[in-house]
Amino acid sequence: MPVEAGWEAESPTNGNMEGRVAGAHRFDGVDLRALAVQVPTPFYAYSANAIRYRVSRLRQAFHGLDLRICYAVKANSNIAILHLMSQQGVGADIVSLGEMQRSLKAGVPADRIVFSGVGKTGEEMAAALEAGVWRFNVESADELSLLQAIAQGKGVVARAAARINPDVDAQTHAKISTGKAENKFGVSIDEARRWFAGAAQMSHVLLDGLHAHIGSQILSLDPFGKALRRVEDFRRELVEDGHAIASVDIGGGLGVTYRPGLDRPIAIQDYAALVRETFADFKGILVLEPGRHLVAEAGVLVTRVVRIKQGSDRSFLIVDAAMNDLLRPSLYDAWHEIVPLHDRTEMARYDIVGPVCETGDTFAQARPLPRCGADDLLLIGGAGAYGASMASNYNSRPLTAEVLLDDGRYSVIRRRQSFADMIAGEQIPQDWHEA
Ligand SMILES: *Cc1c(COP(=O)(O)O)cnc(C)c1O
Repeated sequence: MPVEAGWEAESPTNGNMEGRVAGAHRFDGVDLRALAVQVPTPFYAYSANAIRYRVSRLRQAFHGLDLRICYAVKANSNIAILHLMSQQGVGADIVSLGEMQRSLKAGVPADRIVFSGVGKTGEEMAAALEAGVWRFNVESADELSLLQAIAQGKGVVARAAARINPDVDAQTHAKISTGKAENKFGVSIDEARRWFAGAAQMSHVLLDGLHAHIGSQILSLDPFGKALRRVEDFRRELVEDGHAIASVDIGGGLGVTYRPGLDRPIAIQDYAALVRETFADFKGILVLEPGRHLVAEAGVLVTRVVRIKQGSDRSFLIVDAAMNDLLRPSLYDAWHEIVPLHDRTEMARYDIVGPVCETGDTFAQARPLPRCGADDLLLIGGAGAYGASMASNYNSRPLTAEVLLDDGRYSVIRRRQSFADMIAGEQIPQDWHEA
């Protein structure tokens, strides 16, 4: 699929509300209003072309380097999305066995999978070794020695990278900052230096990589510059001390536009230029772990107005999507663009809320919108990342449907959960046991 230069301009989430009005209802060639007749709201819709476009743009920016893109599965873990990634030659960055199984099922080869996370258990390490994942991003000394023991027990050699905590401020929301000394992720350069010094004693771990991931939704090159410089200085020191470093994994974190005109994402060319310059002397494999960058703006949540409730000093627009479907506003105070799929022009101001019994179940406050009424459709933009993957059954609301759009066609990639699906595994006690 060639990159369509103008593709982004067609996206409902291109951060341009005015520009959108003409073709507002279409996303990847599909009329969302017609789709909402076929699929029950709320539902997620993802544009296959928007994802392909971002993958190929990223790849072009790093052209000539030995690049491996390992998509951060947690951003959107639907197997159809993972399959789309694998079709583009993209691997996976996983943080659990569930994510590993999804990736393998979707056709991602095991040797393109990296395993990150602070809490890997022995059981998970064993299963990942059996599956043949490419490498473990190791986050503590305890994890490293457990990996050695488990690989030894299996008679295999585990490839590992040390996750460095470069102690830089990613200048993002505190809950998605991961690269400061006070965060639980990675180890200091001092500690990693000791790991490499002892690496030769590990018979079944090949410690030959470095990894850093400093946070998410990063909009400034500055923290990347600082973190990557620390990683590269450390790499050179290790090489001078006789250690072979086969791969450097620079994580994910690239920010996207949630607030049109306010969020200014880093241009991919600038990011690539920084990486090329910083790692000019490094000839090994460069790993990227983008999540949000590839999928956030490629997804929308389509929701329907249930009713308008007039409060004493404000109007509540009550929609059929809620915090259990899209948690970001409640969890991170995240701002999402909300666009009605109707053409009225008279404006009103609404607090846009879901039906869940929590005050935090609020998508937007005092948001100016064209006047709405019951049954109107709204689209919530920037919902392709950390949307469906963070959803829950809170308030016993079924998980939403997810739909993949591709050039005027659609395919349901997850049906809306049924009541039976939702309570599967639960039971009223029939027999009791002693423990
Ligand atoms: C979450 C995560 C990512 C992806 O972060 P984005 O901001 O979505 O790009 C990459 N690497 C690791 C280790 C992560 O935990």
